[in-house]
Amino acid sequence: MITPSPKTQQARQARAWQHALREAFKQPADLLAYLGLDPATPHLEAAVLGNFPLRVPRGFAARMRKGDAADPLLLQVWPAGAEALNVDGFGLDAVGDKLKLKPGGIVHKYQHRVLVMATGACGVHCRYCFRRHFPYSDALAGRDHWREALAQIAADGSISEVILSGGDPLSLSDDKLGELLDGLDGIAHVRRLRIHTRQPIVLPERVDDGLLALLQRTRLRTAMVLHANHANELDGSVAMALGALREAGVSLLNQAVLLRRVNDDVDTLQALSERLFDCGVLPYYLHLLDRVAGSAHFEVDEDTARRLMRELSTRLPGYLLPRLARETAGQPAKEIVAW
Ligand SMILES: *Cc1c(COP(=O)(O)O)cnc(C)c1O
Ligand code: SF4
Repeated sequence: MITPSPKTQQARQARAWQHALREAFKQPADLLAYLGLDPATPHLEAAVLGNFPLRVPRGFAARMRKGDAADPLLLQVWPAGAEALNVDGFGLDAVGDKLKLKPGGIVHKYQHRVLVMATGACGVHCRYCFRRHFPYSDALAGRDHWREALAQIAADGSISEVILSGGDPLSLSDDKLGELLDGLDGIAHVRRLRIHTRQPIVLPERVDDGLLALLQRTRLRTAMVLHANHANELDGSVAMALGALREAGVSLLNQAVLLRRVNDDVDTLQALSERLFDCGVLPYYLHLLDRVAGSAHFEVDEDTARRLMRELSTRLPGYLLPRLARETAGQPAKEIVAW
């Protein structure tokens, strides 16, 4: 018997996640048919997709409840007719800061840490995300083999942490990511790597031997900030992927967004924190919604958010309580909201 070499094995796995990504649902009608939902159901009227099409990996759709138009995973990705509403206070400037890219695709807003906009691509399209208005080209910082980004980081000795963001940095191939990690490894003042990604949640196939090898190879202490909003997102396949990341020495944190009808009740938030911890992940942030056009139907008002945090604090140990946070355009830092 011929056993495949590790390289061959890795190439096969790389094809597997890229294949899973290509197979994602892109047509609303196909997703509804898969879930056994009638397109005439109220709230499921066809939406205008514009430049932010539907994208839902099949494995993520498999975690939705069949026949339930109010499923909390479906609501996050469903292009509802309400997206077309023009609501006061919801515009494009809510994300102004996020676009202040320096040459090389980096955002240097906070001391000691710099954000690298690694790619504009995502494994899933979340309807509440600022990304919907900026389907920017697939490679930002990566365009020139990271040269400009690496040069800027190397030139500033105060930068100790590099945060990969986007889009979803794990949409990049291992080769592309490897180039960046090798470059960062060579900059002595960089100690920590942080990867902001939803990919291990929506496409756990992405956590394959090739990625794990990259994460083990780097000398940088590595944290991954995941993005899950509901306990149902964390099924067995996700738990396995997260376990593998932990074994590779990665610290796991989660940021969630507080979303109406998805997770705006205390039982759901409690279940999320507990399920995350079962999977080796600590809750980090609970974000108030960025007020971007088309997302108003997801908004939870701030008083409700505070009340939820107070109730949650009576049910969970402090280390399972996320920090309630808000980003305001023009503010120099993320704001922690007191409750
Ligand atoms: C959120 C954010 C960070 C990271 O902030 P932490 O509080 O360290 O999680 C860094 N840079 C930018 C531009 C950000 O928006
Ligand atoms: S950036 Fe994150 S929240 Fe926004 S669409 Fe991509 S995966 Fe979803």
